[in-house]
Amino acid sequence: MQRFLCPRCGHTVSVLPGTRLTYRPLEVERLQGFFDTQAEVSCGLDPPLGVVEAGCLRRAWNRFLTRVQVLQDAFGQILPTDLHTAQQLWKELRRSVGSAEEMLRFLARHCKRSLLGDYACLRPAP
Ligand SMILES: [Zn+2]
Repeated sequence: MQRFLCPRCGHTVSVLPGTRLTYRPLEVERLQGFFDTQAEVSCGLDPPLGVVEAGCLRRAWNRFLTRVQVLQDAFGQILPTDLHTAQQLWKELRRSVGSAEEMLRFLARHCKRSLLGDYACLRPAP
């Protein structure tokens, strides 16, 4: 992972690859596959989930369930207004935004947020 140091203020900035999630040991592609099955966009991951990975992904989905309103506000007019469930939201994000990686890029660039949390590390240093 690339890390940069600002010589003036001593602040460091890490550049997360587009295929990784902030603070979660998950591949974005696997998260997308799992969320797709939860939202019934597709069925089953290939290769199938390991035990540890399954636990991580279930926690990620549970977190996503709490983010419906926040994410709907973040994506704004990209999404229709009549979304009520996390499943509906995920389906619409896949249709309107594209891959999970594209969702993360949009959120980081325009809202300084992430899919599963709004981390202080995504915001510019004060
Ligand atoms: Zn600085």
